[in-house]
Amino acid sequence: MKYISTRGQTAPMDFSDVLLMGLAPDGGLMLPEHYPNIDSATLTEWRALSYPQLAMAIMQRFATDIPAADLQDIIERTYTADIFGSDEIVPVRKLEDDLYVLGLSNGPTLAFKDVAMQFLGNAFEYVLKRKDACITIIGATSGDTGSAAEYALRGKENIEVFMLSPHGKMSEFQRAQMYSLTDDNIHNIAIDGMFDDCQDIVKALQQDAEFKAAYNLGTVNSINWGRILAQIVYYFKAYFAVTTSNDEKVSFSVPSGNFGNICAGHIAREMGLPVERLIVATNENDVLNDFFNQGAYQPRPTAKTYITSSPSMDISKASNFERFVYLLLDKDSARVHELFEGVKSGQGFDLSDLMQAVNSRYGFAAGKSTHSDRLQTIKTLYEQYGELVDPHTADGIKVAKELQQEGEVIICAETALPVKFADTIVEAIGQIEIARPAHTEGLESLPQHVVVLDNDAELVAEQIRQQVTPNPT
Ligand SMILES: *Cc1c(COP(=O)(O)O)cnc(C)c1O
Repeated sequence: MKYISTRGQTAPMDFSDVLLMGLAPDGGLMLPEHYPNIDSATLTEWRALSYPQLAMAIMQRFATDIPAADLQDIIERTYTADIFGSDEIVPVRKLEDDLYVLGLSNGPTLAFKDVAMQFLGNAFEYVLKRKDACITIIGATSGDTGSAAEYALRGKENIEVFMLSPHGKMSEFQRAQMYSLTDDNIHNIAIDGMFDDCQDIVKALQQDAEFKAAYNLGTVNSINWGRILAQIVYYFKAYFAVTTSNDEKVSFSVPSGNFGNICAGHIAREMGLPVERLIVATNENDVLNDFFNQGAYQPRPTAKTYITSSPSMDISKASNFERFVYLLLDKDSARVHELFEGVKSGQGFDLSDLMQAVNSRYGFAAGKSTHSDRLQTIKTLYEQYGELVDPHTADGIKVAKELQQEGEVIICAETALPVKFADTIVEAIGQIEIARPAHTEGLESLPQHVVVLDNDAELVAEQIRQQVTPNPT
């Protein structure tokens, strides 16, 4: 299987090269040349597989340049009960007769990003060893991504991680999670500024070609193909958990920001998984809600990106969205290039003439949830079912219930655990004891390791120079 760019100007590449990439050299996103088709007989066989077996069956169709035994080893080391809390890895629980919750947040950092990032950490290490190469990962985080990356890459050989976060802006739990790590290859840097300042520093360093080459700078952001691939697996797993025959269809409701999670659901559907609808749930930052209802995509300027109580969905543009638009436009990469170059300079685009395809052919629907919606949903679920969900998951459930059609079975993705966002839980239902996994007991009282720097890319570069040996020139 070869990988190509949505912009059409990058020579086809192998999986293991794409794995270490961010944007394609032509500015697009990397995609497999085609999505494999899974027939009903294969689906039936897959019903009986364990999570790692299913991951293997799916991933080996995409990661064709990694020997099967090696891929299997990576997968078996990744998807264990030890790391994800149970052999099921992503347990499904029933809320109502036709409403389920897919538990994606039982990994080390209690957010769905672990499912992909834990795989990526092991796959990175493997590919780097094979190439005899090192990499310096720099990233910016407002919370969930940074911690998931650090827990996936801690202690890995040939990988150094410099993670920038806005000083004093993350939740107490998120800070403790990241800053309490003691691994030599993990470097936490708090920037006196906002998340966007952190992201600008990362961009500035990535654009310094000489610096980038000297330190082999890489990223693990949400456009990484390996992350999307790992996420495809749980859509299959969830489908098998709530159906008994391939004649049944289910829908998914997914709290969305960068369109990474639901993009994996879209690909699963393209592969032949019997998915009725893919419901995009947004918060007040509703660019995707607008697109999937009206067909107009209008990215927000950063200054108009709201800070909400589901902060991991506070995005101004959805970085994975281009993967879907590419398919929607029948792989017209010249058109994709034109539209997304426009997006880069703040312009939107209008594809309302294609809404029929968006909704029917591709099954997308969307809804929006606000602060009061999420508080109400958290409270109602707690009172009715004794179910505690985090604010992002609440957005997904709110939208699912609002859009649910007669006879439609909806699986709602649980994208984080409530203990990560305790303030909002308390605001919704008052002071209660929020359950937390044993491995996070006492986390907040551990010593924290973080360097606080002024908002200046040069200061970050200096940290990297001090701690990483550059390539010989
Ligand atoms: C990252 C994240 C999201 C958004 O996922 P995308 O793949 O960016 O759409 C939703 N909820 C939580 C808790 C997250 O961490």
